[in-house]
Amino acid sequence: MELLYSDAHCHSNPIEGLGAGYIARKFRSMGGWFIALIGLPPHHYGINGDSIEDYLKAYEITISEARKIREEGLKTKVLVGFHPAEVDHYVKKGRNLEEIIEFAEKLFKEITRLHQKGLIDGIGEVGRQHYSTSPPRLVASELIMAKALEIARDYDMIVHLHLEQGGFATVESINLFTKVLGVPKNLVFLHHVGYNEAFWGERQGFWYTVPAKEKTLVKTLGLKPLSMLTESDFIDDPRRPGVSSYPWNIPVIINKLLSQGIIDEDLVYRIEVDNIVKAYNVNPP
Ligand SMILES: [Zn+2]
Ligand SMILES: [Zn+2]
Repeated sequence: MELLYSDAHCHSNPIEGLGAGYIARKFRSMGGWFIALIGLPPHHYGINGDSIEDYLKAYEITISEARKIREEGLKTKVLVGFHPAEVDHYVKKGRNLEEIIEFAEKLFKEITRLHQKGLIDGIGEVGRQHYSTSPPRLVASELIMAKALEIARDYDMIVHLHLEQGGFATVESINLFTKVLGVPKNLVFLHHVGYNEAFWGERQGFWYTVPAKEKTLVKTLGLKPLSMLTESDFIDDPRRPGVSSYPWNIPVIINKLLSQGIIDEDLVYRIEVDNIVKAYNVNPP
C-alpha cells in the first residue's frame, strides 16, 4: 500500500520564502496529497501598511498560493484570519484595543465575503497568544476569537485556533466557548497542540493538529487517537529556518515510526487520509 501524507496547517511565503509551488512539489514527491494553507499577516509578505486593504492584499496572496498547490496536483483548503500576535503588533503601532477589535471585526466581514465567493474555506488563525503578553491584550484576543467562532457558526466555516499549551484549561475553555456560542465542534481545530492538549482534545471531540516533532508524535500516537491530524506549521521564513517544522518532516518521521513498529499503517491511513477527508470535507485522494 502506498502511503499518503497530509499537512493540516502550513504557511507559505512567495515573497521571502520558498512559496507554495515549491512546497507542494516537494511534499508531493514524498507522498503528500493535502495541505491546509493558512494566511500570514501582511508584514510577513512584505506589505508594510496596516489598513484593511493591506490585509486584503495579504489574503489575495494566500488565495493565489492555494491555487499553486492545486496546480501541483494536491488538494488544499485555505484559511485567512487575524493572528493573536497581531493584537500586540497593533498595540505597538499605537492602536488601542477597542480599535483593534473593531478592525478584526471588519476583517471578518471581508472573510465572510471571500467565503461566499468560494475563495476561502475558513478562518485561521485566530486565538490567544501562546507567550506572555499583557492581560488586556489577551482578553482582546479572546474577544476576537469569540467573534470568529460566531462567524464560523453562522456561515458554516472551519476555524483554526492558535492557543497556549495549557492542557485541560486550554481545551476546557474552548469547550465552554463552543457550548455558550453554539458552535458545532467539528468546525473547530485546535492547532499546534502538545500531548496534553491532544489528550483533552481527544476527549472533548475537537480536531487537533500535532506538529511534526518526533517526541510529540510518538507520545500522541500512543493515545490511539481518533481526531488527530498532523501539521508542519511551517512559516516559510528563511530568517527563521528552525521555527516549527517542514511539511516533508511529516512523511520522514512517520516512515521512521512505521519502520520501528511504533505505529501501524491503519493508524497512519486514518490520521493522514480519513481524518482529513472528514475534517476538511474533501474528496479522498
Ligand atoms: Zn499558530
Ligand atoms: Zn500557524
